[in-house]
Amino acid sequence: MARKALIAGNWKMHMNAAEGCQLATDIAGQMQEYTDREVLLAPPFTILRDVAAALEGKKILLSAQNVCWEEKGAFTGEIAPNMVQDAGAVASIIGHSERRQIFLENDEMVNRRLRGALAGGLMGILCIGETLEEREADRTFNVLETQVRQGLQNVSSSDMAKVVIAYEPVWAIGTGKTAAATQVQEVHSFLRELLAKIYEKELAEQTRILYGGSVKPANVDELMALPDVDGALVGGAALDAKSFGRIVNFR
Ligand code: PEP
Repeated sequence: MARKALIAGNWKMHMNAAEGCQLATDIAGQMQEYTDREVLLAPPFTILRDVAAALEGKKILLSAQNVCWEEKGAFTGEIAPNMVQDAGAVASIIGHSERRQIFLENDEMVNRRLRGALAGGLMGILCIGETLEEREADRTFNVLETQVRQGLQNVSSSDMAKVVIAYEPVWAIGTGKTAAATQVQEVHSFLRELLAKIYEKELAEQTRILYGGSVKPANVDELMALPDVDGALVGGAALDAKSFGRIVNFR
């Protein structure tokens, strides 16, 4: 079964409601009609509902950038999966490197957040990636294997239908440095084999593995042509309708 491509834009901590609605509308205006790909935007929590209203009737999905593992309660500053769903999101990014590095989320927390998202009926986009130091020490595959195994702890085969993996080498995020096509394909095929070991081959073949790290109009076609790349998680270039539109319209 062919995997449907997924192009996701992570707006991080950018955009107020008016700016976000304008950007979303402009992105929708750039897009051609597709059946072979999905497009997803992850605005800040506070403007999810506004962006959802601006995109009414458009074929663009919305995502949160993180969610709590609990449904409700005394968790100051956290947002529950059902809350983002209520605001219009169908997915959540989980374990982004900025959450791991700046806010010290570890694999256990990432796993709890992912399971919370899945239990709440959301698609979970599990981000993994090695630092430059880890790559240079030849630890890339070990690090990724740990992040995948721990991130997917107690995630059932049936829940995997709602999991997307995003490989984002930390050294390529927001730096303008994209991993070389050969490095990306090497990692993605390693990840698919790992999923086959943890689950089964068929499930591994069906799971989407996105690449993230300075994806832009100039490199998207080459990345998307790689056999194990099923989409992109885009940061900086997702804040510009023309750039993101071109990425969505990859050939
Ligand atoms: C990201 O934030 O997930 C990301 C990949 O950012 P950028 O595209 O700016 O490198």
